Amino acid sequence: MKILVTGGSGYIGSVTTEMLCDAGNQVTVFDNLERGHIEAVDPRAQLIRGDLRNPGDIDAAMQAVRPDAVFHFAAYALVGESMADPMMYFQNNVGGGINLVDAMLKVGVKRIIFSSTCATYGQPDHLPMTEDLPQHPTNPYGESKLMLETVMRWQQERSGLEPTFLRYFNACGATEKHGEDHDPETHIIPNVLRVALGQADAVPVFGDDYATPDGTCVRDYIHIVDLARAHILALDKHALGPFNLGTGTGFSVMQIVQACRDVTGHPIPVKMSPRRPGDPAALVAGADKAAQVLGWMPARSDVHTVVRDAWAWHQRHPHGYATP
Ligand code: UDP
Repeated sequence: MKILVTGGSGYIGSVTTEMLCDAGNQVTVFDNLERGHIEAVDPRAQLIRGDLRNPGDIDAAMQAVRPDAVFHFAAYALVGESMADPMMYFQNNVGGGINLVDAMLKVGVKRIIFSSTCATYGQPDHLPMTEDLPQHPTNPYGESKLMLETVMRWQQERSGLEPTFLRYFNACGATEKHGEDHDPETHIIPNVLRVALGQADAVPVFGDDYATPDGTCVRDYIHIVDLARAHILALDKHALGPFNLGTGTGFSVMQIVQACRDVTGHPIPVKMSPRRPGDPAALVAGADKAAQVLGWMPARSDVHTVVRDAWAWHQRHPHGYATP
């Protein structure tokens, strides 16, 4: 199939592009390379540089490629940054997303797999979180993803768009070729591993007074290879979802630090720090629907496997993709 991947130079987009190419698809990556890495774009894919905030860029790409389906990853994805600058998130994630959907419909492309998030639910009133929970985001990042879901849902009704919403929990891990390289890096696993690499003295733990077993926040960590596979299953099975993508098991920040100590053999000191604004106490997926409808089961998301894969990548790339 002909697939257009927005954000194919980013963390999850690069792995999904790699897997789509492995399966023999003809892939075009549309990316502005603002936060991604040109080294992360699979060499088998065609790269079109453009920005979703410029309708002309995505219109031209869509007309040139006329894909069978679009995988939409390109977005800003940092909760803290979104709290500081909400408009930036709405302009890129919502405005850019609208331009993308508009460009698709102009040339009759209907199928889109959308990288959404559990942050669209906000603070859940029960765990595990199923897809029918009310969506009340607590930060502009989650709100921006929910707004684009809403846009697509109306276009589904009015224009025959065929969107699948994949609501990720915490993406983590690495493949041989691709790993996590954000600037600034805010995510827990790379920040813990930075200490093991000797690049920081201690990892800050943001809050130890949450209503969780050890007081630190609980998240559901899902390997990027498992995430990428869910996208391809959704396309193959023509399943519209929405689907939550997580393991169904939560790990606290301190449990993640311990797993990193186990894997690296480094003592990894922690520094107890104030809570980070916008962080819910616990987010754990109820992923039964993805299992039943897509036949999707996480295969690499055991937390030690995740950390081992991430550690292998960070050791090979101590300065990310910029490592010579
Ligand atoms: N966290 C932390 N120290 C860090 C980075 C993150 O304690 O250096 C915590 C963060 O407050 C959250 C959890 O680790 O409770 C996961 O954060 P991350 O940014 O990895 O993912 P998020 O859940 O925000 O998408």
